[in-house]
Amino acid sequence: MQTRSSSMEDVQFPLFSLAHFRQQPARSFEAERMLERQAARESNARSYPRRIPLALKEAHGLYVLDSRGQLFMDCLAGAGTLALGHNHPCTLAAMRETLDSGVPLHTLDLTTAVKDEFVETLFNALPPAFAAQARIQFCGPTGADGIEAAIKLAKIATGRKGIFCFSGGYHGMTHGALSLMGNLGPKQLPGSLMPDVQVLPYPYDYRCPFSIGGEAGVDAGLSYIEQLLTDPESGVSLPAAVVVEVVQGEGGVIPAPTRWLQGLRKLTQAHGVALIIDEVQSGIGRTGRMFAFEYAGIEPDILVISKAVGGGLPLAVVVYRDSLDVWKPGAHAGTFRGNQLAMAAGTATLRYIQAQGLVANAERLGEHLMARLREVQRDFACMGDVRGRGLMVGVELVCTAPGQARVPAGDGALAKALQQQCLREGVILELGGRHGAVVRFLPPLTISAEEIDVLVEKFQHCLSSVVASTH
Ligand code: PLP
Repeated sequence: MQTRSSSMEDVQFPLFSLAHFRQQPARSFEAERMLERQAARESNARSYPRRIPLALKEAHGLYVLDSRGQLFMDCLAGAGTLALGHNHPCTLAAMRETLDSGVPLHTLDLTTAVKDEFVETLFNALPPAFAAQARIQFCGPTGADGIEAAIKLAKIATGRKGIFCFSGGYHGMTHGALSLMGNLGPKQLPGSLMPDVQVLPYPYDYRCPFSIGGEAGVDAGLSYIEQLLTDPESGVSLPAAVVVEVVQGEGGVIPAPTRWLQGLRKLTQAHGVALIIDEVQSGIGRTGRMFAFEYAGIEPDILVISKAVGGGLPLAVVVYRDSLDVWKPGAHAGTFRGNQLAMAAGTATLRYIQAQGLVANAERLGEHLMARLREVQRDFACMGDVRGRGLMVGVELVCTAPGQARVPAGDGALAKALQQQCLREGVILELGGRHGAVVRFLPPLTISAEEIDVLVEKFQHCLSSVVASTH
């Protein structure tokens, strides 16, 4: 393995690159034993190891090496967390500097120079008009913790109890967040979830919930929400908040149309309902804007940020309008809100993204990835839809058997077979959407056009072999 200096500083780091990519794995008994021990010891609820049964050894940027010596392009990137890829030298340097500085690493919500710098950097990354009147609450370190805080804040600030959310939505696995989930699988609990939740149709253009699509589908969605908010016989009380992902991630990479988002903003504003925008996955440059809501020129009342904001370490924050800051001292707490290493890594990540123009890069390379995938789509009827924003891209696989409806059914079995073939050939991809039929690409924002070309070649090759073997 070679080393080279990063473009930013003089840190030497071991490097994987495309040149190392075509490696053959050797059988490793130690790796097999690790995986066996994992299966024997860890919970039945474990998820990724079932689809990606790898014992990982080393990782740099886009690449991950497993214990058998196979190198993978990691297009899952910690479920969208690793904006700069694995072990980026700038985040490592920030963590080392923090460790060597003697700053307390655990501070509850007390302040330090590291925290002060993180908050300044994050506020500088927000749209200025929003930042000018915003406050920040540090939460427990996960996206779901952020969602829980946002819901609580909206309920306290409005004095109402209901929450509106959307089909296909994903906001985490804690009880409150789970109540807002579209996917019924994980919701099948023996007990009850958070009450007073109303699930609304999301503007999923490819499978329009009103079977209209396009601009008429947007109008239908907005008028449905308006009717719920205004009709004295809608059967639904005015909610405290509407929680929305601007681009649904786990739900199958579905970007909400700009006009729908603008309409939702107008309706919530008109009725005094807090708009909670969940940018846990889409935030910090991934979609080609620092925050995906910027595409629509709107602002949230409450913004939930996690994943990439901690530079790969656990961190979640809620940033909200000052006028909502009516909760009492101690109304929201949590022991692990003071992770200095995560704040330092987050500051370094935000600064690197800004200094290197990675937000614009995500927009440009996302277009490139989607254009290349659409070229492949011409030869594969099973690629029903290619969509996304920036480097948050999905391919919905569909059944090609005769007798399908105008929009064919999703083919989760094909997507699963493709995911497994890609894994064998060194590409880590995740699935999402209805029936797991959407193959998702969430590579680091540092991926190059050349790497995208290799990725799409691999995807095409794997899809050909899977389609050939199933026909
Ligand atoms: N919100 C969105 C949009 C997410 O994609 C996720 C996780 O994937 C969450 C919330 C929950 O985050 P966490 O898994 O850190 O609780």
